[in-house]
Amino acid sequence: MFSRLKELFKRGGASGVENYLKKLSVSRQDLIKEIEPVSVDTPFNAYVTLALLLKEKGEFYKSLKILERLKGEELSPEERKLVVLNLALVYRAAGFIDRAEEALKEGIEQFPGESFFYYELALLKRDVGRLEESVELLEKAASLKEEFSDELLHTKLYLASQYIDKGRTDKAFRLLRKVNPKVPLPLFYYVLSKLYYAVGEPEKGYQMALKGMKLSPKHTAPFLQVIEEGDGLSVEKLLQISKEAGLSYPVVLRLVKLYLESNDKESALKLLEEFVDGGEFWADLYELYLRLLWESGQRKKVVDRLEGLLSHLKNRQKVFRCQNCGFKTDTFDWMCPRCRSWESLELNSEN
Ligand SMILES: [Zn+2]
Repeated sequence: MFSRLKELFKRGGASGVENYLKKLSVSRQDLIKEIEPVSVDTPFNAYVTLALLLKEKGEFYKSLKILERLKGEELSPEERKLVVLNLALVYRAAGFIDRAEEALKEGIEQFPGESFFYYELALLKRDVGRLEESVELLEKAASLKEEFSDELLHTKLYLASQYIDKGRTDKAFRLLRKVNPKVPLPLFYYVLSKLYYAVGEPEKGYQMALKGMKLSPKHTAPFLQVIEEGDGLSVEKLLQISKEAGLSYPVVLRLVKLYLESNDKESALKLLEEFVDGGEFWADLYELYLRLLWESGQRKKVVDRLEGLLSHLKNRQKVFRCQNCGFKTDTFDWMCPRCRSWESLELNSEN
């Protein structure tokens, strides 16, 4: 098996193959970098590389076959580590979650000092909603490797948020007591805000939300929802928020709604004009703006605006877009459902 593959690589010319391999984007290869770099000079590495290539191409069955066979060979501990880890990753990618879990547990058993097994198992648990187990595993991973502490922190905050939703504020408090972000995180303030509202301290909840929005003006939507559900939103609060975090679509939308409810069309129109002239385009707000203009008798202005905007009006809608991978969704989440990066979904109006 080994010799045949070696032949194959030889025929293709070493430099061509190497360049090709260099360009490979193997998932989490950056994380397995301390394990020997892939080289085509040794058959083991060539096989692992081939398995990873097949995985990237979606040929999971072939990839698994190679890795399973490799596992049966005489391997050095480092090689075994790489095979078991990749087996788990391919099983996971292929949807064999049980097998992936099995492989990772085997990895933990054989290499208790290797952080990646805990880390990958933690992600697996997180994906099936078992956040408590995920946090435990990440504690272990982060204790072995500093770079996992960010994942641990976010997962803890996510878990705390879930506790609050389930009415277990006691558990959330206990969890958050040990959380101490080195850099200010919007998600941290979001969870704290939720927690304070949940235990009947709306003023603190509001202050936390305000801090979070100030920190991340593009994430106002989830914070506004917390304030709205916890204590309601008033014009005063919304104006304060816009002063601290700027005028964002969700803020303007709510403010306009409140103005119109109290029949203050003038303020609504003024605000909409300011927002529209700021360069943001939101079909629903723009429509409202034109309607109010029309109603106030400024019909010439409506016509002017419309002419300038006809090209803009096609199929624009609001979406949350991942700044990391470009994924689009209409529901906000702190974690991108596709690339799993944290706090990367931002609200925008692009199509
Ligand atoms: Zn993403």
